[in-house]
Amino acid sequence: AEFTLEKIESIVKEKSVELLHLQFVDIEGILKNITITAQQLDDAVEGKIMIDGSSIKGFSPINKSDSYLLPDLNTFAVLPWTETEGYSEARFLCSVTNPDGTLFEGDTRNVLKKTVERAAEKGYTISVGPELEFFLFATDENGYPTTELGDRGGYFEPSPKDLGEKVRVEIFKTLRAMGFTIEALHHEVAEGQHEINFKYADALTAADLATTYKWVVKTIAAQFGLHATFMPKPVFGINGSGMHVNMSFFKDGENSFYDANDDLELSETSYSFIAGVLENVKSFVAVTNPLVNSYKRLVPGYEAPCYLAWSASNRSALIRIPAKRGMATRVELRCPDPSSNPYLTFAVIASAGLDGVEKGLKAPAPINEDIFHMTEERREELGIDSLPGGLDAAIAELEAGEIGLQTLGEHVFTEYVAAKKEEWDNYRTTIHAWEIENYQYKF
Ligand code: GLU
Ligand code: MG
Ligand code: MG
Repeated sequence: AEFTLEKIESIVKEKSVELLHLQFVDIEGILKNITITAQQLDDAVEGKIMIDGSSIKGFSPINKSDSYLLPDLNTFAVLPWTETEGYSEARFLCSVTNPDGTLFEGDTRNVLKKTVERAAEKGYTISVGPELEFFLFATDENGYPTTELGDRGGYFEPSPKDLGEKVRVEIFKTLRAMGFTIEALHHEVAEGQHEINFKYADALTAADLATTYKWVVKTIAAQFGLHATFMPKPVFGINGSGMHVNMSFFKDGENSFYDANDDLELSETSYSFIAGVLENVKSFVAVTNPLVNSYKRLVPGYEAPCYLAWSASNRSALIRIPAKRGMATRVELRCPDPSSNPYLTFAVIASAGLDGVEKGLKAPAPINEDIFHMTEERREELGIDSLPGGLDAAIAELEAGEIGLQTLGEHVFTEYVAAKKEEWDNYRTTIHAWEIENYQYKF
């Protein structure tokens, strides 16, 4: 949405907004906020609200911890669930700035802004449509999640017997009221799994929307006594949750990925984008798939990719080209999951694609066979490589590659790698239920 300060002031009055939540994300994309009274709106908009960055994951060292929040006016939204007669609350998403007003390099929203600028220098606008899947779980008497799925529906099932559909519809109403353009809602393949799709937008807006979406989904689910999770693989043996990222570059109002004269109606630019993504994905997957758990989703057989190939239709390939052409021509990267920080995820994908375009890389031939059921020999014959099998391998690739440091910048790159290594080490040395089950009695 396009908001001026005057417009916001009039909404604040009209809707009796009393509290404003100034929101931003930490290095993992986790939403944070400080709440101020509406009287402080002017100060807030001028970037005068201070936070202590030393307590935010991935932010400043303790010796220079003062940071400021700079609200992005276009992210203003009244929160529908707070609205009552004569009272409501609203929020802004903010960028984090240094005391001198410059953008703080540890803020991942600022990282994405840099990639957006890099694309703009080449004349491109990055357009992104993310598809975030999630699970609903029942909660206990304290409101904490249990491992009991929220419903027993399957793909595209209407849900008269359970809460799934009611929750989806309520999420839809809330998002719509907050300015989202919603396109579709449906039950996903796994029990208790859902997806709600919103219209693509420029990269920064799309990352803001993804962040807001996650927050709203959790908020509304909780009202129904359910816990929504964006954890990528909450249940063994059934589909996990992805965040497919549909991306295209626009130039002068035209979709640069479309070429009516090509066999597949795809442009040279789109082939180079695909090539750039394929060349860099192993080194950026630690960003798009950030958790130990992420790699339990990237296994054959669950519509999630593990092999490096592209295809116009194949859902077992890492990259798919959805059927739509013309202005809707786009490349769908299927590995990212919704536990990733959308600002960083969109930045690394766009950056890899831009590299491909700048270097004029050529895409390999598409693979239209089902890769999940291919023999290892056949994969080798076709030169199909795989994604790293675990977070440890992915971190090693991130550190060894160039795309991470180049895109995230020194601050975020260093903090990110350190945080992920610590996470891996903690996992590596912990004794898990599986080990007890399989080893304790037997040995
Ligand atoms: N849930 C699948 C995944 O893990 C994707 C299913 C779909 O194609 O929408 O990516
Ligand atoms: Mg889906
Ligand atoms: Mg998809």
